[in-house]
Amino acid sequence: MNFLKNKGYFFALIIILCFLGCKTTTQWKGQAPIRKVSTLTVPVQRQYAGIFDLGDGVFVSNDYSGARMNGVARTNDTLISVLITSENSPINPSPWYGFKIWSEAEKDLYVKLTYNEDAFHRYFPKLSKNGSDWEALDSLKYKAVKKIYNERELAESITLQLSVNKDTLWVSAQELITSSVVDKWTNELLTNSFVSKSTIGESNQGRPVNLLTIGDSDDQRMIMVISRQHPPEVTGFLAMQAFIETLCADTDLAKRFRATYNTYVVPLVNPDGVDNGHWRHNYGGVDLNRDWENFNQPETRAIRDFMREKVSATGGSFYFGVDFHSTWEDIFYTITPELKGNMPGLVPLVIAGLEDEFPGYEPNIRPSPGTGNKINSTAFFFFEFGAESFTYEVGDNTPREFVRKKGETTAIKLMEQLLK
Ligand SMILES: [Zn+2]
Repeated sequence: MNFLKNKGYFFALIIILCFLGCKTTTQWKGQAPIRKVSTLTVPVQRQYAGIFDLGDGVFVSNDYSGARMNGVARTNDTLISVLITSENSPINPSPWYGFKIWSEAEKDLYVKLTYNEDAFHRYFPKLSKNGSDWEALDSLKYKAVKKIYNERELAESITLQLSVNKDTLWVSAQELITSSVVDKWTNELLTNSFVSKSTIGESNQGRPVNLLTIGDSDDQRMIMVISRQHPPEVTGFLAMQAFIETLCADTDLAKRFRATYNTYVVPLVNPDGVDNGHWRHNYGGVDLNRDWENFNQPETRAIRDFMREKVSATGGSFYFGVDFHSTWEDIFYTITPELKGNMPGLVPLVIAGLEDEFPGYEPNIRPSPGTGNKINSTAFFFFEFGAESFTYEVGDNTPREFVRKKGETTAIKLMEQLLK
């Protein structure tokens, strides 16, 4: 699996647990409430993919799935400048980047990442020698030019010091988890007799929207899990993986759960966005998580139609729905507890279970302010099907060990509550 193989992350986990143990009273208030926007298809700008010969035996490439590099120039002997731009605008600021670099002669090079105006650097660089095992760049080799954006001190550009040689070095905003990596993971799950896979739709560019079915139940009780509406949100995907693997585990709890509930999973809602290295949108140029009311995009329509057909064909109910994302810090966006779905109190109990499991961990929970906008996935799950639902947000920099543990524990607490 593609986890950061860096001992530093273990110590970071200890530090974050100690930090969480301090019971900070100033929790992040989360993103501003979401606003309705048009989700009609608009054009996106395709990047020109190729291998760029920068002279002197130095090459840079963005010719692979999940790459993003919109321009590159050799500024001088040791400095390479890279331009990163979004697929279209306006867009939320999550500037994904990814490229490969190599050099015939062994040398140290500086690579400066620049962004279009009003954008800024966000993701701490990850390096890989094979495209699947990643390590965070040594912080001593990272220099940022900082500015204040919306009360956060962020970098308008960064410069990385890279030791390059004839072997390809991969540089990426987060671990590279493209559609083929997701397929590999789902194929591993498919070795379980209780897991099956089907295709419920096609993206704008014709990639399959794949659905996993987990369980042997009669579909009277179902849960829905989705992830990666937003391409760069890899930490949310990692939590989803741990969550799903726990539902598939060879434990008494998971076996009982699978005999009672069927779980439906769309692990990669936006395959075009992921494989094209988009910052946020699908190939229709749209933020999919604003399209759950009008359903102008094929990816959201596929999931809507699947859920509706399932309920009408079986007479069963969705009891729970979760959508995994990433943002600045760990946070849960829930439906306000005054509204009752098919199992009132479920989501608060699951989150409280997490709090019990990690002493000192104080979950950041932001309930939606009522029946306002119904444009995102979890509102759709709740208001259309009565499924108790929440948006599970993982911090961009949350230590990967903790991401996994939290994903596993969420699955355990959920199964316990749903079987009560
Ligand atoms: Zn998101």
